[in-house]
Amino acid sequence: MIRSVFFDMDGVLYDSMPNHEFSWCKSFEAEGMAFRPEEAYANEGRTARGTINLVFNRELGRDASEEEVERIYAYKTRLMRERPQPAILPRMQELLRSLPELGVKVYVVTGSRQPSLVGKLHDAFGIEKETLVCGADVKRGKPDPEPYLMALERCGFAKGECLVVENAPLGVASGKAAGLTVWAVNTGKLPDSALTGAGADRLFHSTTELAEELTRVVRGE
Ligand code: MG
Repeated sequence: MIRSVFFDMDGVLYDSMPNHEFSWCKSFEAEGMAFRPEEAYANEGRTARGTINLVFNRELGRDASEEEVERIYAYKTRLMRERPQPAILPRMQELLRSLPELGVKVYVVTGSRQPSLVGKLHDAFGIEKETLVCGADVKRGKPDPEPYLMALERCGFAKGECLVVENAPLGVASGKAAGLTVWAVNTGKLPDSALTGAGADRLFHSTTELAEELTRVVRGE
C-alpha cells in the first residue's frame, strides 16, 4: 500500500531539463570545452562543482580552481535566469493535487536551491515548506540517499509504504540507496538502460503514463 510519494522536481514536475542542457552546453562552450547535451541528463542531480570537475578532469586532467568553478557557475546561473519558464509536465499538476484526496502524502525532493521554488511549488502543486526537501536542507545531494531518507523520516511511514518518482540516473540511485521503491520516468535524452541500470523498479516513457498507473495502484485497481 502506498501512503507517501516522493517526487523529484526537474524533469518530473517541470520540463526544466532543456534549460539546464542549454545553459551547461553554453557555459562549457564559453570555456572552450566540449560538453554533449546528453551529459546534462546523465549528470542531473550532481552539484555544479561536481559536474564542472568532471569536465575539467576529462579535458584538462585536473580539478577546476575555486575561481573557475565560480565563474562557470555564475555564467550558468545567469543563462538559467534568462531562459523561459519551464512548463509543467503533462498530468503532474492533477496527480499531485489528487493524491492527498486518496490518502497519500506528497513530498517534493529536489537538489535545487532556487529560493523562489517553494512559492511556485505551493501555488502549482500544493507543496508546503514541510513537504519539500531541497538542496539547502541536506549535506550530501543525490546520488547519496540523504535527501530521500529525510523525506522518509518526515513522513513517518515505513519504507515499503513509500514510493520515489525520478527521471535521472543519479536520482534513481539515491532512492534505491535509501532502500525505497523507485519508479522512473524517462523524459530526457538518455536510453532507458541508464535508468533501469541505476536500479529503477519500473520505467515509464511519459508523465501521463506514470500518472495513470500511479492513480490505478493507489486506488487499488
Ligand atoms: Mg530530475
